[in-house]
Amino acid sequence: MAHREILKVIEKFELDKLIHEHIKKTGTDESFFIVNVGDIVEKFILWYDLMPRVDPDYAFKCNNHPFVVGTLAALGAGYDCASRGEIEKVLEMGVGPEKIVFAQTVKPVSHINYAKDRNVRLMTFDNEDELYKVKKHFSDAELLIRLRFDPKSTNKISFGEKFGCMPGEASEFLLRKATELKLNVKGVAFHIGVGCLEYEIFIKAIKDSAAAFKYGNSLGLKMDLLDIGGGYPGKETETITGVSKAVNESFRKYFDGAPLKIISEPGTYFTEKSFTLVANVHSRNVKIDENGDEIFHYYITDGIYQSFNMNSLHGVDIDVRTLKETPKETPLKKSIIWGRACDPHDIVLKDILLPELQCGEWLIFENSGSYRISTSTFFNGFPNHPVYGFIEKKIWETFNKMRVPHIKLMYDVHE
Ligand code: PLP
Repeated sequence: MAHREILKVIEKFELDKLIHEHIKKTGTDESFFIVNVGDIVEKFILWYDLMPRVDPDYAFKCNNHPFVVGTLAALGAGYDCASRGEIEKVLEMGVGPEKIVFAQTVKPVSHINYAKDRNVRLMTFDNEDELYKVKKHFSDAELLIRLRFDPKSTNKISFGEKFGCMPGEASEFLLRKATELKLNVKGVAFHIGVGCLEYEIFIKAIKDSAAAFKYGNSLGLKMDLLDIGGGYPGKETETITGVSKAVNESFRKYFDGAPLKIISEPGTYFTEKSFTLVANVHSRNVKIDENGDEIFHYYITDGIYQSFNMNSLHGVDIDVRTLKETPKETPLKKSIIWGRACDPHDIVLKDILLPELQCGEWLIFENSGSYRISTSTFFNGFPNHPVYGFIEKKIWETFNKMRVPHIKLMYDVHE
């Protein structure tokens, strides 16, 4: 029988206490994750409080662990899938094909065919060739034209160079082409980029989307669906509060009461804060650098081929602290945290200051829920980390009241 995760219902989620208990109980010297599943439920509730008109289609790629995808499916979320494989997994959970957006502008024909077979109709495009492909293989698909927006500064990952067409002339050309091909363009999608902190870009994106709707509808298309993508940070709630105000006001201003359905593709928002990675310092080497300074090299039970794949590429934040509490006056030492693979590029953090650590001590990486588990590999033979999930009793009760009846939980629950 396939392994099923166990979610434990507890009175109070106390992170460090849970970490200490697990180390003691398992005797492990390997990494593991502690997950506060209640945080995912609370994020779902907050989302609808802030943006009642916007249905979230969770970006499966962000974290595919059952505690995340199973919880969100049980709450009735839709899904953003980027491939045939992701669609397969989401349908297996019992989520209906009408709740999936195939949010990948460039798709192999076999994936388009699969979407057609499974009646996943909604998909994005941003180029002329994709339109011909869709025309040939799935001519009555529902299409969203993906527009490109480039925030000025704060993005951790920008997409503009790879995905999206420019609003204005380029998008108008594609809308004309789609009309000529008698394709069913339902609306506009955009994705501002991962970890975007600029509210203004959402305002511009909604304004330009409204212009694309106007143009498309003037061609005879029936555009009534707006997809405002992902990019909402999850570790604090100020940003989503600010973004939601900008987004809600922009709907009112630029769509002016039009009968519009609005969806979104948040990943990080739901997952970032809920996962904490706990890694062991299994080895160390104290070296002297060219200035004669002591540098503490720590080797941990993780690395860029496991949980830190995305940060090495994109500079996603890493929040690190030691498990052992140290007095405030403890001197900090120049340190490097190395990953465990034989690859010399496997560096987790360079030039950081930490209290001196001994072999066997633990490092805590909070806010590790996004693009860590789902990008982990088996390079060098290191296994995936165990994941221990918890939910506070009060939130568990709320969750049960909210659950969609036809979706079975993907994990066992110990109350
Ligand atoms: N939608 C698309 C098309 C994406 O490519 C991504 C991330 O890569 C997301 C949604 C999710 O983004 P985030 O995790 O920032 O919400």
